Amino acid sequence: MSQPSPTAIERKPVVRASTGNTAGDGRNEDRGDARSVAVAPMVSHALREDLADAPLRLLVSFAHPDDESFGPAGTIIHYARRGVAVHYACGTRGEVGEAPAEFMVGYDTVAAMRTAELMGAAEALELTGLHMLGYRDSGMEGSPDNAHPAALAFAPVDAVAERLTRLIRSIQPQVVVTFDPSGGYFHPDHIQMHHATKAAFEAAGDPLRYPEQIAEGLSVWRPQKLYYATFPRGLVRLAVMLMPWFGKDPSRVGANEDIDLRRIAAVRQTPTARVPVAAYYDARRAAAACHASQGGGRRGGLMSLVSRLFFRHDGWERVVPPPANRGVERDLFDGVLGGRGAATS
Ligand SMILES: [Zn+2]
Repeated sequence: MSQPSPTAIERKPVVRASTGNTAGDGRNEDRGDARSVAVAPMVSHALREDLADAPLRLLVSFAHPDDESFGPAGTIIHYARRGVAVHYACGTRGEVGEAPAEFMVGYDTVAAMRTAELMGAAEALELTGLHMLGYRDSGMEGSPDNAHPAALAFAPVDAVAERLTRLIRSIQPQVVVTFDPSGGYFHPDHIQMHHATKAAFEAAGDPLRYPEQIAEGLSVWRPQKLYYATFPRGLVRLAVMLMPWFGKDPSRVGANEDIDLRRIAAVRQTPTARVPVAAYYDARRAAAACHASQGGGRRGGLMSLVSRLFFRHDGWERVVPPPANRGVERDLFDGVLGGRGAATS
């Protein structure tokens, strides 16, 4: 199958159903070296025709189906409801995620099941576009999935950045957001998306980078602002302090004991923007509930209370342009040229 036309995404978004050769292990019949042979084509889903020509556009660049909903879902809804076209670039189809048998009914592969969950979340989050980059989930550091030839984390950064640059030139977002250098919790796919997004942010405005895209009809596009996601590390530090009292090791958390809370707690971040999200609690929950196979949407419980009480803002660290000492922004589109009116309440 051919690549999506570079201009199709912006002008007349075309919903492209995933093809059989992307549903399973991510292999396809493209020519190239072993790595590029294994990587599936990029697939774009246009979800909101009404915002196809929106003057303000936001690109959210993460790694897995659920990163958008378990992460800064409030920011996505906040801007979608203000008429901003919000696009999600998702690096993988979450092939290595949990797959309890009851969630696999009707699906041949974990990738197909998780993509369906993501399509539901995309609707709940009122996304304008969903773009699957075509790589395979790499799993956590040291897992055998690291060695798969299509694994996102082990692709050349330049190859991932090429796909993201194509997206940036197609969508033309003024603002791009992604993971910080730690990827939040050191997931190798998250860290890869950080590096590739940063590289694409710089490359998209340079006509000498990926000139074949320009020859195909895409225009050079220079996004104006780049932000990294942050989250309240204080809660993690509290957990690190308290867990030993309950006989738990904070260095070995999660179903596979592969999350190190001490390492996560040690990361220093300085949020320079705080987007108010308290009003979107129910919408955030609805989006998370779409990822039921990954534990999203469980009712009640301590985490629900913590989420309602503490996650009243999404914190973002501005990287481009470098933050000035002018207090904390409340709008990622603050100062954006080309009409910021639609982005502010
Ligand atoms: Zn993830």
